[in-house]
Amino acid sequence: MTHQKHRQQNNAYFHKKSGVLFALFFLPLFLFADAHIFVYHRFGDKRYTSTSTPISQLKNEFEYLKKNGYKVVKLSTLVQALKNKEKISDKWVVLTIDDSYRSFYENGLEVFKKYGYPFTIFVYVKSVENKYPDYTSWKELKTISKYGEIAYHSYSHPHMTYKSDDFLKKDFAKGLRIFEKRMGFKPKYFAYPYGEFDNRVKNIAKSFGFQAILNQNIGAIDKNSDLFDLDRIALTGNANLKVDLAYKHLNAVWIKPKNYPTNGILKQIVAKLDSNDTKDIDYYLSNYGWHKAKIKNGYVSVDIDKKLSKGRNRIALKIKNKIAIKLLIKDKYERK
Ligand SMILES: [Zn+2]
Repeated sequence: MTHQKHRQQNNAYFHKKSGVLFALFFLPLFLFADAHIFVYHRFGDKRYTSTSTPISQLKNEFEYLKKNGYKVVKLSTLVQALKNKEKISDKWVVLTIDDSYRSFYENGLEVFKKYGYPFTIFVYVKSVENKYPDYTSWKELKTISKYGEIAYHSYSHPHMTYKSDDFLKKDFAKGLRIFEKRMGFKPKYFAYPYGEFDNRVKNIAKSFGFQAILNQNIGAIDKNSDLFDLDRIALTGNANLKVDLAYKHLNAVWIKPKNYPTNGILKQIVAKLDSNDTKDIDYYLSNYGWHKAKIKNGYVSVDIDKKLSKGRNRIALKIKNKIAIKLLIKDKYERK
């Protein structure tokens, strides 16, 4: 080998190596970014097509995660990483289950065990305590706790925005007292019944000392995510896991509206975006569909003037696959 050639090769090697280093240096920006939290309800329960996941589909989803290098991590792992401002991997997936239905114990758990996938199950305390037929028992929950985390989903599973502060505080106090007595520990995480909440409900929930609170809005988790408002995507009968995994977190600060408007008419949507979001944005309102808007000086501002439905309304902002969702729901007890 001539000296010249050796040098060229060395150079090529150096360039290649510096390329790798260059890539590694920027890796956190691209690869370590958005984790996903999913929520299941029932498993292999043919009576409930919209909220039950057929076992064949569950296996397909787990197989997809495995084949595509996704790592199913505990909710605790993600929460700790957010607290410590550590890297969040794009490949992290957190699996949660709401309502503690028997069908999880009878049909779903086996599949989770087979894949070794951890999970967090959110317990509807009254159903377990009063031995409702469709729900797991405390004994079964103790068995379940060998494989996953047991968390809190309210005492009476109320539509929380329709309940007074007093009702909600009593519901939390009672449910948490029973949970702790039966399970022997205080639950770390809370998920809203029906995914329904607003700022009033959120503040009451926070006051009970949970480490994290989960909603049921489409989205992803990145370092800017609010620990007390973690997005969770529902996986049901017709879910498309691939599409859901492509979502990224859009860091939008909602300026208008803050809450469900008192007269039920949404006048305007205003949100502050990251400085690198500069051009077009899609926005959505329930019963109104998707529309386009421009981002100006880091803000999106659109006039809407639409009457909202009396139930759950969602506003979404989307730039390519980055998405932020705000739930607007009537609150009977909002302080004026
Ligand atoms: Zn529920």
